[in-house]
Amino acid sequence: MSGTVREPALAPDWELVVGLEVHVELSTASKLFCGCANRFGDAPNTNVCPVCLGLPGSLPVVNARAVDLAMRLGRALGCTVGGAVFARKNYFYPDMPKDYQISQYDQPTSIDGSLELPDGRRIGIERAHIEEDTGKTVHIGGGGRIHDADYALIDYNRAGVPLVEIVSRPEIRSAEQARSYVRELRGVLLATGVSDARMEEGSMRVDANVSVRPAGSDELRTRCEIKNLSSLRSLGRAVEHEARRHAALWSDGDQPRQETRHWDEANGRTTPGRSKEDADDYRYFQDPDLVPLAPDAATVAALDAALPRLPADRRSELAAACAAAGAAASPEAAALLVERGQDDLVAAALKAGADPAVTVTRMVNDLAVEDWSKVTAGGLAALVALETSGQVTATQAKQLMAAMAESGDAPEKIAERLGFEAMSGADLAVTVDEIIAGNADTWQRYLSGDEAERKKLAGFFTGQVMRATKGRADGAAVNRLLHERSARGAS
Ligand code: ZN
Ligand code: MN
Repeated sequence: MSGTVREPALAPDWELVVGLEVHVELSTASKLFCGCANRFGDAPNTNVCPVCLGLPGSLPVVNARAVDLAMRLGRALGCTVGGAVFARKNYFYPDMPKDYQISQYDQPTSIDGSLELPDGRRIGIERAHIEEDTGKTVHIGGGGRIHDADYALIDYNRAGVPLVEIVSRPEIRSAEQARSYVRELRGVLLATGVSDARMEEGSMRVDANVSVRPAGSDELRTRCEIKNLSSLRSLGRAVEHEARRHAALWSDGDQPRQETRHWDEANGRTTPGRSKEDADDYRYFQDPDLVPLAPDAATVAALDAALPRLPADRRSELAAACAAAGAAASPEAAALLVERGQDDLVAAALKAGADPAVTVTRMVNDLAVEDWSKVTAGGLAALVALETSGQVTATQAKQLMAAMAESGDAPEKIAERLGFEAMSGADLAVTVDEIIAGNADTWQRYLSGDEAERKKLAGFFTGQVMRATKGRADGAAVNRLLHERSARGAS
């Protein structure tokens, strides 16, 4: 089945209801309850000790740095951050040698926050709790899938790595919004330094709870949890597919079963996992080896004071800078510039007098490069001035932008080097007069024509001037000259 064939969207009489659970690995040097290194990519089972292997008699000691990062994230998400209790979540799985996962249950570190998306919509965050990661199982043979593998290997390097699980409220209403939520959360994680949030390395993993309901209703119907979505593309496709599956079941008088499901990327469908257990099945109880966390007010205040500017703040600052300079930036443009970290550069160029609309257009379209560190606010403002004054064309401005990112030279200097040197007004006037003289009949039709005719013929003359100047002329300047000449001719 080809991934390029798009299945039809969910019918309009159904509404999509999505809540996301995102696990992120914290950027600590060591694991959550022992001193083993928290490092991706090391040789299997080299970062292990009695604690993270669950050997008898070993005792956990909580990593203060991990707690600090988790609380910082909580505050960045606007959560209430306070006392928390570690609990044992009991179940057997080979990659979890203690037979329980240390997590937080009824008293998580962070509750009741929200995340603001670029379109202005706010998605509620129910909780963000600390827990330990499990080891990693690799299935050998049978294409690496559990059902037809010959055997499994387990790497415990990841066992005990600190995680925060961020649980959204079921307030996401489209696959696009689900992707936007994860992208935004990633922006917050990077800004706060809480996680490197690399989906491709598994340091950010997404589970999607999906259900549908008749449009306009506020009921919550049976949901399925799609586990371990490892890219934004998979997330979007899986959510759309699952929603259609539910709508079809309900429409047939049937209903989905509450269960976890796996996303099959190759076939573009979800397949059933285990039927979903309730919290009761895990026999949660407070971990007797760990004391409750009890941050005081001063600790939380210090976290707040140290919070960086977050993506949503930066977007609104950029929008305000554009508005102050006389133009609106679209939410998409603002989100993109903030994601690339180019918002401060734009704001500084505007401060230096650059035209906001042209600046944003140039940046969005022409500075999607890895390394733009050589582009300065002054250089950007100078480039935009060359374009708005008609000294270079839009096409030339694009080339200048690329060359500035590469060399860091001033745009005027690059323009000279590339032969973009501005046509002087006098040179352009001479060319325009030559074209008029060489097309006297057409010029007479232009002078006596109605508005539509003049517009059409202005296009003809501009085209002739562009050809004669090899595209160096500025179209607006040519139009101005034609106007002046026709006013003179008519008088
Ligand atoms: Zn260890
Ligand atoms: Mn979890």
